[in-house]
Amino acid sequence: MRALTWQGRRDVRIDDVPDPILQHPTDAIVRITSSAICGSDLHLYEVLGPFLTPADVLGHEPMGIVEEVGAEVTHIAPGDRVVIPFNISCGSCWMCSRGLFAQCETTQVKEQGKGASLFGYTSLYGSVPGGQAEYLRVPQAHFGPIKVPEGSPDEQYLFLSDVLPTAWQAVQYADVEPGGTVAVRGLGPIGQMATRIGRHLGAGRVRQMGGPGDEDDPGAEPRQRGGRREPRRRAGPAHARASCHPAARRGSARSSPWLAVRASRRAPPRRARGRPPPARPGGTVKVAGDQPCHRPVELCP
Ligand SMILES: [Zn+2]
Ligand SMILES: [Zn+2]
Repeated sequence: MRALTWQGRRDVRIDDVPDPILQHPTDAIVRITSSAICGSDLHLYEVLGPFLTPADVLGHEPMGIVEEVGAEVTHIAPGDRVVIPFNISCGSCWMCSRGLFAQCETTQVKEQGKGASLFGYTSLYGSVPGGQAEYLRVPQAHFGPIKVPEGSPDEQYLFLSDVLPTAWQAVQYADVEPGGTVAVRGLGPIGQMATRIGRHLGAGRVRQMGGPGDEDDPGAEPRQRGGRREPRRRAGPAHARASCHPAARRGSARSSPWLAVRASRRAPPRRARGRPPPARPGGTVKVAGDQPCHRPVELCP
């Protein structure tokens, strides 16, 4: 089959690779019909190169048609249309039983101190061939794939693989109260989806901050929806910074969206200094997405 392969730093190519085959009774083989490119894939293009091997197949946001299933896969069958979430999770271990699928104990890469295996995402996450390919072997397919209806274009479902649940979790963990204010810095797919979900879940105001060019403009002023800049305000004392190693700062911390939630819709927004959005004292700052860093975000006075 043909697949997108990593060959070296800033070097990816479509190449011929072996067709995947069933290896375990919980596997499925899916013919991929759509496969998105994630902001997290930029880490593979650059800083996570040391954890890749030439010819590794990339991609963790696919969907397609089931071709084959193992004996223990019963909720999907050949011919079904499925979306494949990027986490590879068993659905029944201690972590999975508590909804912490990204920490699945069955697929986690213990020697790397990481959580669940991911498709197409380095030796840190299991070296599992990814979904930017014509076919994909799906481990733990008795649990992972989501069956979706026929009749609508792939784009209607593809975001279920990563963008929608990641943004949904970010907003839920930020615990937006009805009528509250959400500020989102980092307007890639996750950030943009988070603004929509914030609205959907009842936020009174949603502020999009930065946007194109924000990576080089960490002090960018907040923008209201529609792009109008807010008037400059006095810099607030509360900010947060990601306390990660330099590679994480260069990679993940730059491309992951931040959400700040102010509990009161009347609380005045503070001017952003640094990458995280401003939050009032007592507000919530949520870092969404892949963080190749073990240390928590450090809140600074
Ligand atoms: Zn992704
Ligand atoms: Zn599990």
